[in-house]
Amino acid sequence: MDDLRYQVDLLNAMNQRMQADEKMYRLVCDTSSNAFIYIDFKKNICKMLGDWDAYFPDTVINSVNELSKLYTYVEDQSVLVFRELLFLENSKNQVKTDTFKLAGRNKFIECRVNVIYDAANNPTDKVIRFSDVTKRKEQNDELTYMAYYDLLTGLYNRNYFVKLLAEFTEKAKNNNDIISVLFFDLDDFHKINDGMGIVIGDEVVQQFGFLLNEYKSDNVLISHFNADIYCMAIYNPNSVINAETIFKSINEKLKNPIRLSNGSEVILSFCMGVAEYPEAAQNTLDLINCAEIVMFRAKKAGRGVIQYFDAPILSDFLNNVAIENKLKEAVFENNFEMYFQPQYKAGTKKLRGVEALIRWKDYDGKMISPAVFIPIAEKNGAIIPIGAFVIEESIRVYSIWKKKYSVDFKLSINISAIQYRASDFVESLIFIIKKYDVDPSDIELEITESVLIDDFKDVLEKLLILREYGIMISLDDFGTGYSSLSYLKGLPIDTLKIDKTFIDSIDSDDNSKIILESIIRMSKKLGYETIAEGVESESQNSYIKDIGCDCIQGFYLSKPMNVNGIEDLLDELGY
Ligand code: C2E
Ligand code: CA
Ligand code: CA
Repeated sequence: MDDLRYQVDLLNAMNQRMQADEKMYRLVCDTSSNAFIYIDFKKNICKMLGDWDAYFPDTVINSVNELSKLYTYVEDQSVLVFRELLFLENSKNQVKTDTFKLAGRNKFIECRVNVIYDAANNPTDKVIRFSDVTKRKEQNDELTYMAYYDLLTGLYNRNYFVKLLAEFTEKAKNNNDIISVLFFDLDDFHKINDGMGIVIGDEVVQQFGFLLNEYKSDNVLISHFNADIYCMAIYNPNSVINAETIFKSINEKLKNPIRLSNGSEVILSFCMGVAEYPEAAQNTLDLINCAEIVMFRAKKAGRGVIQYFDAPILSDFLNNVAIENKLKEAVFENNFEMYFQPQYKAGTKKLRGVEALIRWKDYDGKMISPAVFIPIAEKNGAIIPIGAFVIEESIRVYSIWKKKYSVDFKLSINISAIQYRASDFVESLIFIIKKYDVDPSDIELEITESVLIDDFKDVLEKLLILREYGIMISLDDFGTGYSSLSYLKGLPIDTLKIDKTFIDSIDSDDNSKIILESIIRMSKKLGYETIAEGVESESQNSYIKDIGCDCIQGFYLSKPMNVNGIEDLLDELGY
């Protein structure tokens, strides 16, 4: 009897505990945002738990077979996969998860199935869990999007473009096909960005991107690299779609101004560099690089220019890179030497002055022309130490000559825009002049118009200070830029150096003569001294003298010489 009592008590206790457990499980499931189905195969019971209605409203599953009622919730093309998952026991698997889009709704569910088997490998229990993964999926999609696309324009980003272009090149290699890579850069974009603000700048970038996107196809990839730079690849260009037709077609569209959201309008133009696989390069990155190098060449030629790859462009470029690298070392090791080219008073053997011209002896003994390395030095900043060397070395040498020889002649020094821009330019020049105790009026700075165009106000202020101090200013390469004589009137200039191109055309072109004569007449009226540069022959020399040009510089009279050469000349001239 006691035994029976004990068993009844035990059963009651177990029942109570099970009810408590079930209550707990139910509570856990019901407060979950997931939906569950529990299936007991032996008893063939189904229980729907959790937030069931949020997933399958008004759908009741009473037995295993009724799981098929859920098919209608997923898209038709996923039903087969969904069925396999819901009846996982048919494939004797234990756990499996998959994600489905709900039919007609923008909702994604993850379905996870868990089956338990007995010793004979028959299923005993199954739990199916449904979770809403819409948010997670959206975030994932966004990440995927960001990995492939540029958010501003919706075009491929650089990385993805490179990957796709690599697939193109692989395919072209196998099929002996051609790929054109087009590198785009908008003209004067910084003016839009600086002048109208970056929000407008972004809008321009976006609109140009939309315009390019119109050419997208299976054979045309388009990418926005950054700022105002885009790249396009055409697989097997043909007579309809090729670099030239696209260039023309975009330009046709750009004839109409681009209308911006603030109501303003801008006219856009762009330069384009074109490089082709396999001619320009065989690998993807080199191909893009080539197109970019060619684009730089196009930029040099002006606005709205298209330029095609050819071998000399590349070797020029590589040469410049090599020079740039050597230049960095040269600045350090000071492999530079100053040369000086005499300037004479026209029609006489009287020295007017010397122009300091830098020479660079490369370590393999080759001379590299300043016309080549100065522009590179201006770009990479090396012009600052080089310019400082030019100023100090030429003034040092000149101060020695002034003491040694009794001759009144000037020293002209070329100064580039970057040097003028340095905040301590005026100060450090005056410091050197004082250090070597030379007369400021013996020193002449040569400037080119480009210096004035870039930073007119700042440079003008500095020139006025220097001129006040007594230093002379000469305008170099006159006639090659925008200069009109009336524009010069406001500038503190003493001397006009007439560019060699004028002198070159004297013999062949009567118009040049007329222009030259009127330049000289007008400069006289304005009070400028004139120097003709690059005079190479007796006929040029005598013509220049006859039309009243004050001074002459050129190979005909003297080439640039080193210090010893100038000293020999000064001796020879009897000073
Ligand atoms: P630039 O200032 O116009 O200098 C005149 C150039 O014409 C010099 O070339 C000179 O050697 C050359 N030349 C003079 N007479 C004749 C001639 O009759 N026929 C020919 N064919 N050429 C003649 P260089 O020394 O090669 O300098 C080239 C340019 O490099 C200079 O043009 C100047 O812009 C720049 N440069 C040279 N030295 C310096 C420097 O120390 N500092 C800066 N910033 N630039 C320099
Ligand atoms: Ca010069
Ligand atoms: Ca010149």
